[in-house]
Amino acid sequence: MSIVNVIAIDGPAASGKSTIAQKVADKLGGYYISTGNMYRAITLFAMQNDIPLDSEIDPDRIDKILSRLELTYRADPAGKLHLIMNSRISDSEIRSPEVAKYVSKVAAMENVRAWMIGRQRELASLGLLIMEGRDIGTVIFPDAKYKFFLTASPEVRARRRLAQSGETAAGSTVASVAKEIALRDEMDSKRKIAPLKKADDAIFIDSSDMTVDEVVDLITSRARRK
Ligand code: C5P
Repeated sequence: MSIVNVIAIDGPAASGKSTIAQKVADKLGGYYISTGNMYRAITLFAMQNDIPLDSEIDPDRIDKILSRLELTYRADPAGKLHLIMNSRISDSEIRSPEVAKYVSKVAAMENVRAWMIGRQRELASLGLLIMEGRDIGTVIFPDAKYKFFLTASPEVRARRRLAQSGETAAGSTVASVAKEIALRDEMDSKRKIAPLKKADDAIFIDSSDMTVDEVVDLITSRARRK
C-alpha cells in the first residue's frame, strides 16, 4: 500500500532540494525535513568527539558516539521543525564547510545508515512530511506515492551553493565549489548502501532553467493530482 503523507525529494548536492522542500511544506502545511542535516549532525558530533575523519573511520568509535547521540526534532510556534542534537539546536554549525567535507564519508558507513533508517521512518508519525535527501524514494520510503528527483547543471548548482552564506569556505569560486560538490556526488552515487539514485517511479525535474516557484508549483500540482 502506498504512503500518502510523505513527499520524497531526492537529488544531488546543491540541487535546490532544501529551498524547494521548505516552500512545498509551507504551501501544503506539512513538515520539512532535511535528512542531510541528520548525517551532518553525526559528522559534527564525531568531530566534537575527536574521531579522526581524514583516514579510514573506525566503525567502533562511531558506534560508541551513536549510542550517546539523540537526534530529535522540535517544532517552533510557526510549526517549523528544528533539529536538536543532545538537547542543543544545531541549525547553523552543521552547515559549515568543515562538516560538508567529511559528511559523505560518514554517511557511507553501514552502522550510520542502520542507525538512521528507523529514526527517519518514524518521523512520518508527525503528519505530512516533505523529506529531502538521497535515498528517501529508494530506501526510507520506497512506498511513498509522491517522489521527485531534482537536479540542475553542475554550474547552476555551484552558483546556488556559493550564494548560500556560511556554506562555502572563504575565497571559494564557482569552479572550486563545483569540484567539491562533484566529489560529494561521486561518493554518494558510488557507495554500496543506499546510493544517490533516482527511484524508478520518481518524477525527474531538471531545474536549471526554472524558477523556484515553477518547481514548487510543479511538485505541489503533481502531488495533488496523482
Ligand atoms: O543534503 P545535504 O547536502 O545536506 O547532505 C549532506 C550529505 O549527507 C550528502 O552529501 C550525503 O553524503 C548525505 N546524505 C545521505 N543520505 C541522505 C541525505 C544526505 O547519505 N538521505
